[in-house]
Amino acid sequence: MAKEAKKDLSEISVEEKLKSLYKLQTILSEMDKIKTLRGELPLEVRDLEDEISGLNTRIEKIKAEIEELKQNVATRKIDIETAKVSIEKYKAQQDNVRNNREYDVLTKEIEFQSLEVELNEKRIKEANASIKAKEEEIVKSQNALEETKKDLEDKKNELEEIVAETKQEEEKLRENAKAIESGIEPRLLQAFKRIRSNSRNGLGITYVQRGACGGCFNKIPAQRQLDIKMRKKIIVCEYCGRIMVDQELAGVAPTDTEVKEAPKTTRRRAASSQED
Ligand SMILES: [Zn+2]
Repeated sequence: MAKEAKKDLSEISVEEKLKSLYKLQTILSEMDKIKTLRGELPLEVRDLEDEISGLNTRIEKIKAEIEELKQNVATRKIDIETAKVSIEKYKAQQDNVRNNREYDVLTKEIEFQSLEVELNEKRIKEANASIKAKEEEIVKSQNALEETKKDLEDKKNELEEIVAETKQEEEKLRENAKAIESGIEPRLLQAFKRIRSNSRNGLGITYVQRGACGGCFNKIPAQRQLDIKMRKKIIVCEYCGRIMVDQELAGVAPTDTEVKEAPKTTRRRAASSQED
């Protein structure tokens, strides 16, 4: 079987080879389009998942900070109470002092404890303001989280839909491509794939368009255009290396004013294709 197939391949005319390559190009471009369509969605889904995990971490962190601040406030409240009890105790002791020195020592203690109370009250006020700000931050983060979760849901659904929609089409294209590839000489196929992978628009074969290469838009000499029309040799564009065919072979109406039914990919300006 394999031997026979190989023998058949060597008997294929250049014209047939070019037709096969062009057909393969069309199918591969279709597959690229599907991949592009889907290609960005998994990335967007991952970005959103990262964002959600980031927001969750952020919310947890703020919650922990609030908890710490609240404990700090509670400790300071106890300290205030303790200081106040001390103040009361010192005041009572002042009524029973034996001399001025003892009285002054107690006054100093009372002053010190009063300052402690004031300082703690100031710190509590600051902590409460900080708690309030952090709680507002949590609300904001939670709103952002909800929104991102909704976005993620949408993107996931979109991706699932596209995958479901395109799966069959993609499989069919892949089968077609495989069938065509099996009818092309491995060396030619390899060369074609190399040209294709080197070209940014994924075109390994293109047709003459208004006297120029449909891939890089460089002018093709008249004699070369004639050779391409003859379909007796595989001719590549001397600028971009793409394999050249005539419009008729490409299934494009031969017109010099407008390109009809051109494969979508060739309509894009391929300025980037001038690799060398
Ligand atoms: Zn070219």
